[in-house]
Amino acid sequence: MKFDQLPTPCYVVDEALLEKNLKILRGVMDRTGCKIILAQKAFSMYKMYPLVAEYLSGATASGLHEARLGQEEMGKENHVFSPAYRDDEIDEIISLCDHIILNSFSQVEKFKDKVLQAGKKVGLRINPECSTQQGHGLYDPCAPGSRFGVTLEQFRPELLDGISGLHFHTLCQQNSDDLAVTLQAVEEKFGAWLPQMEWINFGGGHHITREDYDIPLLESCIKRMQEKYGLEVYLEPGEAVALNAGFLVSTVLDTVRNGIEIALLDTSASCHMPDVLEMPYRPPLIDSGEPGDKPFLYRLGGSTCMSGDIIGDYSFDRPLKIGDRLVFGDMAIYSMVKNTTFNGMALPAIAIRKKDGDCEVVREFGYEEFKTRLA
Ligand SMILES: *Cc1c(COP(=O)(O)O)cnc(C)c1O
Repeated sequence: MKFDQLPTPCYVVDEALLEKNLKILRGVMDRTGCKIILAQKAFSMYKMYPLVAEYLSGATASGLHEARLGQEEMGKENHVFSPAYRDDEIDEIISLCDHIILNSFSQVEKFKDKVLQAGKKVGLRINPECSTQQGHGLYDPCAPGSRFGVTLEQFRPELLDGISGLHFHTLCQQNSDDLAVTLQAVEEKFGAWLPQMEWINFGGGHHITREDYDIPLLESCIKRMQEKYGLEVYLEPGEAVALNAGFLVSTVLDTVRNGIEIALLDTSASCHMPDVLEMPYRPPLIDSGEPGDKPFLYRLGGSTCMSGDIIGDYSFDRPLKIGDRLVFGDMAIYSMVKNTTFNGMALPAIAIRKKDGDCEVVREFGYEEFKTRLA
């Protein structure tokens, strides 16, 4: 099938673009000896896991279901972090995962022995209390009052026996200069216990596959931890794995005017690209400009009842007409994993653009997916 014949709305993940990212990540692994695993919460399109597995060391999960998906579909190293595990899930999680990261010393006291008895590794998430993100409280695990990771004040060295690694996750879409600052805080606060560890996990939020990302600085951070403390280094990016590797194709259903030209699409910010509203951000749209760049300005709206279901204002070379197809960029990550059927909206189909340019629809959704989540 050709790209312009795909049904809409449809997420399309481009194999060549995904592989381009994977090659960049693999380069970091090969030059430093670190291990990089996919944070599935950003991108769980398991049809692509065999390709991901050719390049990365495995996957990490936010809980039981992602852990099971990683084990079933990736089948390599499988890690998990959850702020608190459930008693009725922990045994299955331990059976599925190699590294189980605990968020507090009370979780350590509760679950450490179980994990060790199963021959799996216990990690502890630490909170270096080093905020490097501005104005993004929603995404800052180091914000005051954060529930993530043990602070130095709460640290209990007497309980470290059996814990083989420390884990921190403090970044979001950031460059390696912020990692370097964070590592300094980690060393200042927790450096005394690093020599007794086997590994350290730098978490996610590293925008490694972004054009301006400073990869040499990342690699010097990794090497420093390896050489100074003899640690194995893990990174678990989500975004960077599938950054700019996918699209959301939609169709103009109608145009109306109310002080501004408005185009109504068969997709929805609220249902199909919720981060547009939650982050919030304005997604890239192929063949469009910022307001003022091109002569015809439109506000693009979704077809739900929510007034705020607006994707953004975009300008075009020509007036939009009913049936035009609009292609949003960077739609592989935090899109299909977060979508909803609010308003009974159907979920977008999922397709792959193969390396030869041919497209294949791998999943379509309808009424059943709406109904089966309700009762
Ligand atoms: C969200 C998250 C990641 C992945 O973050 P990205 O911003 O997608 O790279 C990795 N580890 C943990 C613990 C996370 O919460």
